[in-house]
Formats: sequence, structure tokens, C-alpha cells
Amino acid sequence: MLILDGKIASAAIKELLKNEVDEIIKNGKRVPHLAAILVGNNGASETYVASKVKNCAEIGFESTLLRLDENISEEVLLQKIEDLNNNAFVDGILVQLPLPKQINEQKIIEAIHPSKDVDGFHPISAGKLVQGLPTFIPATPYGILLMFEYFNIETKGKHAVVIGRSNIVGRPMSILLSSNTKHGNCTVTICHSQTKNLKEICLQADILVAALGRPGFVKADMVKEGAVVIDVGITRVEDATSKKGFRIKGDVSFDEVAPKTSAITPVPGGVGLMTIAGLLKNTLHAYKMKNNF
Ligand code: NAP
Repeated sequence: MLILDGKIASAAIKELLKNEVDEIIKNGKRVPHLAAILVGNNGASETYVASKVKNCAEIGFESTLLRLDENISEEVLLQKIEDLNNNAFVDGILVQLPLPKQINEQKIIEAIHPSKDVDGFHPISAGKLVQGLPTFIPATPYGILLMFEYFNIETKGKHAVVIGRSNIVGRPMSILLSSNTKHGNCTVTICHSQTKNLKEICLQADILVAALGRPGFVKADMVKEGAVVIDVGITRVEDATSKKGFRIKGDVSFDEVAPKTSAITPVPGGVGLMTIAGLLKNTLHAYKMKNNF
């Protein structure tokens, strides 16, 4: 059984990105710039954004973090996005989700200019993805493809089962896995909360992607011998023995499932790190498009 170690794979990708940035600097050009917006004080969101900003610094990207008050109005947030859309020195914009109740998330996603949509959530990006056109791939599914690439995971002709149909993970993942591309060409089944016989369907999976946000949901009796298991889930579970008072759990019961698999991602240290690698690659892509590389 192979552990699909996100630390190793993402470090290799970041090294290549850093080399590209070094080259940009050598040529006297400005470096790629990611702008992140964080609304409110959600602990998990704070951690994700901090990690994105830190990773930008590690590879030499510029980043700006805009921290906005929990009670900010939708109108003010839209104006901030418009300012970033019009800022020629900003290549990529991300708004950390979820947003407070008074703000319509879809409106915010659609306000980001598609050329700066490095999270790949804009309907134009999603539409292009469906049609197999070049676009920003949402960072988490992109990270999973990068993991397949790094660890030489064959997907062609396999039956992939994706649990979860969100616009940011499950649905784009299912589309990518079914596309006629190097890390696609699977026969895909997409499952959700209304799926009947989920266990039987999972047992048919050569590749099982769990993206439902239910800690430890996937048990050993749901997994075929030799399957590749990708655990996207990240849930904070209370744990008084931990200094932080919680620990991170994935959607897969790792200890019982791992021995049955041919390859599996750990949580933490798996897909989460690859998601950041995907975001950084998207930001460089946005920069290159703007500068006609
Ligand atoms: P989401 O928007 O809540 O979607 C969850 C999906 O799972 C929905 O489609 C839901 O079905 C389905 N689902 C829920 N319970 C189910 C059940 N018992 N059986 C089958 N399907 C079920 O979540 P998300 O944003 O996609 O995130 C999923 C998980 O991934 C979360 O833990 C999140 O924190 C994590 N995540 C991790 C990363 C990363 O970088 N590793 C990035 C993004 C998200 P319905 O559509 O029918 O409601």
C-alpha cells in the first residue's frame, strides 16, 4: 500500500514553481500576485488563508490578505472585489468561503473577473471545464490530478466513484475523471446524500474519492481490495488531549481502510496540501495569461 503523501508531492511542485519565479525575477519582471479576502474570524478559514499566504511567500509570489469585518455588507465586499479586478498588479483573487449569512456567495463568486478566478468557481470557469476547454480547475480537484501525476496513478478505464457533488470538489472532480485527458478516462459514478446502496456502489470503485465532510464515514467494508482511496474531507473534531482542543479528521476511517487499498491519501498531509499546490499553479497561470507568456 502506497501512502499518497501530499507533503512530498506538493514540495516537488512548489520547487518547480519557485524555479519559475526565480527566472521571472532574473528577467527583471514583477512576480505573480495573489489577493485573498477573508471575511470574519472563522478559525478554519483563518488557518486556510494563512497557509495560502505562507505558501505564496515560500515560492516567491507576492500576496495581499484583505481582512474584512464579519458584518461587512455585500455591497462593500463587491466593491473590494471590483477594486482587485481593476488592479493591474493583482493576478489572482480568492474569497475564502464560507461567507457570513448577509452575503450571497454566488454573487461574490460571479463578481471575480474570470481571468483572475484562480479558485475556478466562476460559472464561466466551470462551463469551460465541462466542455474540456482550458480554464482554471478548482484547486482541490486540480490538486488531486497533480497527485495522480506525481505518483503515477493510472486512471484510464477505471471505475471512479465520487462521494459528494459540491461545485468546489465533487462535481468538478467527477467531470475531470470522466474527461478524455491523461488523468481522466474513467467511468464515473457520482454519489450524494440521496444515493441508494452507497456501500455497494463504493465496493465497485477502483478509485474512490470521498468528499462529503462526514468524519470517518468510509469504512473498510465499503472499499474494494486494491482500490485507490482519495480522502478530501477535513473536519475539526473536538479532542481535549490536543493542545488546540481539536484534531483534523478525514472522511475515511484510515486505519481500517488503508490495509485494503493500493494507495491512499492521509488526513492531514494529503489532499489539503495538494489543494494549495493547485491554487499556486492557477495563480501562475493567471499571471502568464496576463503577460502573454
Ligand atoms: P459540501 O458542499 O457540504 O458537499 C458535501 C456533499 O456530500 C454533498 O453533495 C452531499 O450531498 C454529500 N453528502 C453528505 N452526506 C452524505 C452521505 N451521508 N452520503 C452521501 N453523500 C453525502 O462539502 P464540500 O465543500 O464539497 O466539502 C466536502 C469535504 O471536503 C469537507 O470536509 C470539506 O471541509 C473538505 N474540503 C477539503 C478541501 C481540501 O483541501 N482537502 C477542500 C475543500 C473541501 P447533497 O448534495 O445531497 O447534500
